[in-house]
Amino acid sequence: MRVGIGYDSHRFAMGRPLILGGVRIPHTHGLTGHSDADAICHALTDAILGAAGLGDIGHMFPDSDPQWKDADSVQLLSRANLAVTEAGHHLVHADLTVIAEEPKLAPYVDAMQQRLADALVVGLSAISIKAKSNEGMGWIGRGEGIAVIAVATVS
Ligand code: MG
Repeated sequence: MRVGIGYDSHRFAMGRPLILGGVRIPHTHGLTGHSDADAICHALTDAILGAAGLGDIGHMFPDSDPQWKDADSVQLLSRANLAVTEAGHHLVHADLTVIAEEPKLAPYVDAMQQRLADALVVGLSAISIKAKSNEGMGWIGRGEGIAVIAVATVS
């Protein structure tokens, strides 16, 4: 068994769609980034790459490369998982905590779990997503952006 950790954060901006865990969520703001800025997929990608000792998402999909502009991060996650599989590892379980003041993400957790489980070719029970606020503190509390922490176990 090996364990990897991933962290990601993105800033909110007007005029961007909010996509988290591969699910489009209605909100006044979206997240900025070179890809679709899906912080859940990015943190999870780093966690599984880390568990396999395969570097990180920025190394695998550099933001200097125009082919990843507005990329679907579920596709990036799926590609990274393929590399993990080719290296002889197999995702056992992933646990994620999303820290966002707004919007409330609980209504979308089931859909995000399903999307990620499908992308990673694992059962639904292998993907855990928890959403919480930052109790109004700091940059997350002011609604400037969101952060995601992911832990992945591979065998
Ligand atoms: Mg990111």
